[in-house]
Amino acid sequence: MPRKKKNESEAASAQPAWADRLRYFSQHQDRMVATIRELVEIESPSDNKQSVDRIAAFLARKFKALGGRTQLHRSDDFGDSLQIDFSGASTMPNCKPVLLLGHYDTVYPLGTLANMPCKVENGRMRGPGALDMKSGIALMFHAIEALQAWHGELPRPVTVFLVSDEEVGSHSSRKITEALARKSAGVLVLEPAAGLRGAVKTARKGVGEYMLHVRGVAAHAGLDPGKGHSAILELSRQIAVLAKLNNLRQGVSVNPGVIHGGTRTNVIAADASLGIDVRIKSAKQASGVDRKLRSLKPFDKHCTLEITGNINRLPMERTAGVAALYKKAQSIAREVGWTLDEAAVGGGSDGNFTAGMGIPTLDGLGGVGEGAHATHEFIVISELPRRALLLAGMIESV
Ligand SMILES: [Zn+2]
Repeated sequence: MPRKKKNESEAASAQPAWADRLRYFSQHQDRMVATIRELVEIESPSDNKQSVDRIAAFLARKFKALGGRTQLHRSDDFGDSLQIDFSGASTMPNCKPVLLLGHYDTVYPLGTLANMPCKVENGRMRGPGALDMKSGIALMFHAIEALQAWHGELPRPVTVFLVSDEEVGSHSSRKITEALARKSAGVLVLEPAAGLRGAVKTARKGVGEYMLHVRGVAAHAGLDPGKGHSAILELSRQIAVLAKLNNLRQGVSVNPGVIHGGTRTNVIAADASLGIDVRIKSAKQASGVDRKLRSLKPFDKHCTLEITGNINRLPMERTAGVAALYKKAQSIAREVGWTLDEAAVGGGSDGNFTAGMGIPTLDGLGGVGEGAHATHEFIVISELPRRALLLAGMIESV
C-alpha cells in the first residue's frame, strides 16, 4: 500500500497516500479502458441467454485470474449470474465481506454494435452498455487488483455478484442478491453515477410493473356495431383513470407505456392490454397504489378487467446506514480534493432490494457519463481513476 515517506510522523505514515493511489489509477487508465472495451464488445442483451452466458464465462475467467473463487448460478430462463468470492487477509478472520453488486445484461439487442460501435473520441468512450454498467464491472476488477497490489492480499473479504437480468426485473437473481447482502457488512452498487458531476445515489424510487387486460365482446363493426363491446374503448377510459393516480409532488408516477389490442379495423375489439410502469418514493406508498390498481372497475358492464403484476422493487430510502456510507465516500473523495455529491433518482436497481432489507447500501459508484439505454451512451474516461480510487477506499472502510 502506498504510504507517506519514512521521514514523516508516525501518525501520518498510518494514512494511505491518496495522491499516490490516484497516480496509480491514472497510470492504469488505459488498462481500465481496455477492460471496458472487452466487455462492451461482448454483446449481452437480457433476453439472449447464450450471449449473457458468454460474458459470464469471460468474466469468470478474468476474476479467477485475480484469485477469486467463481460460482455460476444457473438459470433456465435468463443468463447465468456470477458470484466471485475473495478471501481477506488472514489477520482478519471475522471480518464480514463487502458486496460489490452489478449486472452484465444490457438493454441493447444483438447486433447493436454494428451501428453503435465501441469507440473512443474526445475523451469519451461510447458503446452499448459502456455506462450501464460495463464500466462499473471494470472498476470492480481494477480496484480489487489495486488493493492486492498495495496490501499483498485484500484487506477484507469481498464478494462480487454480477447478475444476468437486472434490466428485466432481476427475477432469477434477486434471491441470491438478498442472501449475499444478508451476509455482508455493506453493499456497493456499481451502477452509473448520476449526471456528469458523478454524484452517488443515496435514494432511488421504487418500481412496479403491471399489466391491465380488458376483455370485451367482438362484433362486426359494420353489420352489428350495437352488439360489440370494445375492449379498446374500455381500455382508453381506464387510461384516463390511471392518469389521475399520478402525484408528481409526492413522487408517484403511473405511466401507461405499452398498449396492444384489436385485430382488424372492421372488428370491434374483444381484447386489449396495457403495460404500466409505476414509480413510488416511499415504501408506504406501495400498498396504496397497488390497491387502486386492483380496484379498477369497468365502465362498460360487458367488459371485464384483469390486473397482474406488482411493486417489484421497493424504494431505496436514504436510511442512516445509507447516509453513513455516503459520508465515508465523501471523506475519501475529499482526500483528493473532490467534492462528491449525492442524488435521489427515479430509476430502480438491485440496490433497492438490499437497502430495503436494511443493509447499508451506496449506489451509483460506477462510471460517469450520459445516455444510459440510448444510442449516445458514453462514459467520461478521465473520471475513471478517481472512481476506482473511491471504490478501493470504500472496500477497505465499509
Ligand atoms: Zn444498470
